[in-house]
Amino acid sequence: MSMFTAEHETLRRETRRFAEKEVAPIAQELYNEGAEIPLEIIQKMAEMGYFAMVIPEAYGGLGMDNLAVAIVTEELSKAWLSVGSVMTRMLIAGGLILAGGTEEQKERWLPGIAMGEILPAAAFTEPNHGSDTAGMRLRATRQGDHYVLNGQKTWITFANRAHMLTVLARTDPDPNARHKGLSMIVVEKAPGDAFAPPHLLGERIPTVGYHGMKSFSLSFTDLEAPAENLIGMKEGQGFYQLMGVYEVARIQTAARAVGVAQAALEAAIQYAQEREQFGKPISEFQTIQHKLAYMATKVEAGRQLCYYAARMKDEGQRSDLEAGMAKLFCADMVEYVTSEAMQIHGGYGYALEYPVSRYWRDGRVFKIFEGTSEIQATVIARRLLE
Ligand SMILES: Cc1cc2nc3c(=O)[nH]c(=O)nc-3n(C[C@H](O)[C@H](O)[C@H](O)COP(=O)(O)OP(=O)(O)OC[C@H]3O[C@@H](n4cnc5c(N)ncnc54)[C@H](O)[C@@H]3O)c2cc1C
Repeated sequence: MSMFTAEHETLRRETRRFAEKEVAPIAQELYNEGAEIPLEIIQKMAEMGYFAMVIPEAYGGLGMDNLAVAIVTEELSKAWLSVGSVMTRMLIAGGLILAGGTEEQKERWLPGIAMGEILPAAAFTEPNHGSDTAGMRLRATRQGDHYVLNGQKTWITFANRAHMLTVLARTDPDPNARHKGLSMIVVEKAPGDAFAPPHLLGERIPTVGYHGMKSFSLSFTDLEAPAENLIGMKEGQGFYQLMGVYEVARIQTAARAVGVAQAALEAAIQYAQEREQFGKPISEFQTIQHKLAYMATKVEAGRQLCYYAARMKDEGQRSDLEAGMAKLFCADMVEYVTSEAMQIHGGYGYALEYPVSRYWRDGRVFKIFEGTSEIQATVIARRLLE
């Protein structure tokens, strides 16, 4: 029996059509120019309901499951990783507010996120604290009816276009408080490269790939956020709120990797059938056939692991182990598959003209963001040894 409902199948068909018609034709050229995803694409994604997927209907969402999110993510990321990655931000902000927010906060922010009227960005990483989340230093000091934020964040992707930053901040200055001293505070801002000077400054971080969305280092200086923007209205919950949302985010990240890997696999199959050497298509060489076989097998294994974790989550089971495994496996898988796809393209694979060079550069980021592979493995091992 198929794990997919008719709704899942329709969703895949419609998303594939959207991605092939609207995204794939423009992705390569814009990527090579280092351009951001056009705002019209983000607008269309909102109209397609992609930002509303897991938000309950009561808050203006579609109330869909995580398997549906994996399907949509895979199809969008296959066309352009950055497009599949816009959704990650809605999942994180929406998830944080849905699971930890007060009723008033849910009513205030969730409908806007679902409609694409509030675009969020996730501001967790700091220059000196990446994997060590519990050590984050950006300070939020309560002064009457607001918090004053001072400190640095880095790698904050989409911060320029965002209307809202979910900022992990230290509300308890005691360094021994570690993760117990962290809170999640929503900072509202106008979209645009100027951020909110002089209280919030941003500087772009040039990157190897993942073009389409820009990442920024951010400086907070006496930036004020209303006290009612503290998610859950209780200090010290930020770390737990973040860990709660990581499960879903990692499943979606694994699905992003599957999408990029599938694109690389399909490009490699097509190229192998077209390219001739020694008087015949290179697909007739057994070495190339074996490469394709291993690539396809690994893509499918990653996809199934991703779907499995999504289904467990949808059934209400604890799925942090499976989500971590899906993310860990798919990060290795996409690096392997995109590299082999480039190899099958020979010299042309190294040329910017061919999308396989994009898949390879984008594919490398999965072992780094949303928790490095080393941290992912540590978390998995900890569960196994419990
Ligand atoms: C393109 C891109 C987009 C990003 N977008 C965002 C975003 O939108 N929001 C955001 O908050 N962050 C974002 N990040 C940041 C990302 O989540 C961090 O880079 C990641 O968590 C790793 O932190 P770090 O870079 O400080 O590396 P470090 O934590 O300094 O790690 C360096 C190396 O040491 C290893 N290491 C660290 N601790 C251990 C340990 N205990 N055991 C074994 N090995 C260890 C790591 O695995 C890694 O190999 C983004 C990063 C990239 C590259």
